[in-house]
Amino acid sequence: MQYFSTRGHAAPVNSAQAVLKGLAPDGGLYMMDQIPEFDVTGCLAKDTKAMAVQILSALLPDIQNMEALVDRAYTGKFCSEELTPTVSVGKFTVLELFRGPTSAFKDVALCMLPQLLTAAKKQEGLQEDILILTATSGDTGKAALSGFADVPGVRICVFYPEGGVSAVQRAQMVTQKGNNVRVCAVKGNFDDAQTGVKNIFAACADGKLLEGKPFRLSSANSINIGRLAPQITYYFKAYKDLLDRGEIQMGDPVNFCVPTGNFGDILAGYLAKCLGLPVGRLICASNANNVLTDFIRTGIYDRRRNLHKTDSPSMDILVSSNLERLLYLLSGQKHSLVAELMEQLNRDGHYQVPESLKEAISRQFWADFADDAQTAETIRRVWEENHYLCDTHTAVAWKVAENYVNQTGDRRPMVVLSTASAYKFPRAVLTAIGGDTDGDEFAQMERLARMTRIQIPGNLSGLQNLQELHTDVIEKQQMLNFVLEE
Ligand SMILES: *Cc1c(COP(=O)(O)O)cnc(C)c1O
Repeated sequence: MQYFSTRGHAAPVNSAQAVLKGLAPDGGLYMMDQIPEFDVTGCLAKDTKAMAVQILSALLPDIQNMEALVDRAYTGKFCSEELTPTVSVGKFTVLELFRGPTSAFKDVALCMLPQLLTAAKKQEGLQEDILILTATSGDTGKAALSGFADVPGVRICVFYPEGGVSAVQRAQMVTQKGNNVRVCAVKGNFDDAQTGVKNIFAACADGKLLEGKPFRLSSANSINIGRLAPQITYYFKAYKDLLDRGEIQMGDPVNFCVPTGNFGDILAGYLAKCLGLPVGRLICASNANNVLTDFIRTGIYDRRRNLHKTDSPSMDILVSSNLERLLYLLSGQKHSLVAELMEQLNRDGHYQVPESLKEAISRQFWADFADDAQTAETIRRVWEENHYLCDTHTAVAWKVAENYVNQTGDRRPMVVLSTASAYKFPRAVLTAIGGDTDGDEFAQMERLARMTRIQIPGNLSGLQNLQELHTDVIEKQQMLNFVLEE
């Protein structure tokens, strides 16, 4: 199996090289040339980790010893060995993706990626360490730190905007242990930190600055196929749970509603379908930043609008990078078309896909959005009716799933993906269920726990009492030096 760039101007690579490189040199994303034969029934008979082994081995065949890698990635790190439990809540099934070490759905992928990177490195005979550089606006930073901490052969350096992340998110990052991790605040906003990271990659691109250094640079963002592939597993896991509970028979299609930002999570659902899982509609849920809603309905992608800051910040995105992979797959791997659309997006801020592609998208996907008021109303209602506490991202998906059922009459079983613990967003959740929001986030978490009697996840409670290990604050111009000091 080979991996090709979605834009067609880069040499094909094997799966280990695709993981190592992340982004293709022509700016495109790596995608496999064909979907492998896959034993769905066999996969559904397995436990979650064995499912992951089968799926990852099928998609990344050049990476050896997958069983040991999956074991190292996940064993003992999640609340239970099923990793991503499902819960029946009223008319829907909720797939809980936030039971990992940092209470973020990104844990599922970011626990696995370091293992895949080290294995790919060995496979390709690369001697130096890989240094992962990331700018974070919150959740990704901690999930990446936790996934990479103390994994031999890799290092990680996370930059966050000083004052630009929540108190809980900051505490999560600055207390991170591990002899291969660095965390640093940058004076500026998230864009400054992100631009700084991009500038470092550009400055180091020709290799001169890194001569003699024992590492080379890479990134952990969701364009890496090694981050996307591990997310396919939980779609199989959810389907298996529905089978085990007798809610469906083998072969019955199931719909999934996904709170979407960069389009990685929902694309993993589409790949699960390509592998043969009986997936019905994939429902793309957005907040007030509803670029994807408009796109899936009209075939026109238009980023020329203001970014709204919402209560579901992980979905505050105007350019969803993984959509490029969907365009590639559904156009029949027409890389020239994808390259042209991406160039238009870059140059003009918008593009329109051909009618046939638009129709192919609407056969598989459906889209809608929920604003902050609807999100809060949904958190309150789901709590009052079902005694289930949703975070803001999950509530967006719940609301859109309801809209889907009401507007289409499609009564097939619906799985709503839950991407965060309510304790990650205590102010918004308290406000929604009528609690007061005095005090800092730690006080809010405790009040939420008293009101709902739902335990605060262990990794979030008591964070404020841990020792701060990373206290550097630098100017954005100093970021390159900070990295080179390593
Ligand atoms: C990252 C994230 C999302 C969006 O996932 P994508 O794969 O980027 O679409 C949704 N919810 C939460 C809580 C997240 O952290």
